[in-house]
Amino acid sequence: MSTLPIRVYGDPVLNQVATEVDNIDGRVVALAASMIETMYEAPGVGLAANQIGVQKRLFVYDKGDGPVVIVNPVIVESQGEWTYEEGCLSVPGMSWEITRANAVHLTGFDLDGNEIDIQTDEFEGRIFQHEMDHLDGVLLIERLDAVQRREAKKLLRAQRVQLTANDPDGLQRLLGE
Ligand SMILES: [Zn+2]
Repeated sequence: MSTLPIRVYGDPVLNQVATEVDNIDGRVVALAASMIETMYEAPGVGLAANQIGVQKRLFVYDKGDGPVVIVNPVIVESQGEWTYEEGCLSVPGMSWEITRANAVHLTGFDLDGNEIDIQTDEFEGRIFQHEMDHLDGVLLIERLDAVQRREAKKLLRAQRVQLTANDPDGLQRLLGE
């Protein structure tokens, strides 16, 4: 197992739709292990495969009681509304109040190929929606209103300029190249 660099805002891989996992083989199991390690090191509560540059539909998360891997997740139903402060490892150091559905019904598979069926709400439901967005190529800042998004992009641009000035290789790293 090893940790992997997390792709950040500006990396086109974050705007691409991930494809289904056809076969849960040893490579997928190893990938999930690396994703869990990377998530804990960050630290974060969830990580989607495309955040480390792999366009496959799986994510890992830990809502406080251990790591869970979900392969080929689908949100089959969502209900209600809940506004809560939300950040993203791919938009480091920033967070916003985001309104999403509250209750979520998610299905998928574990690493043994067993079906997963979870009905949940609040924090876990939010993680599911956030990670599903990643797999669909949607980054958190696209959930902001126009004013927030403009402000966020300004801050992100400034961050990038500063990184480049302090460290010529910084931009490359920021872009995950
Ligand atoms: Zn995220």
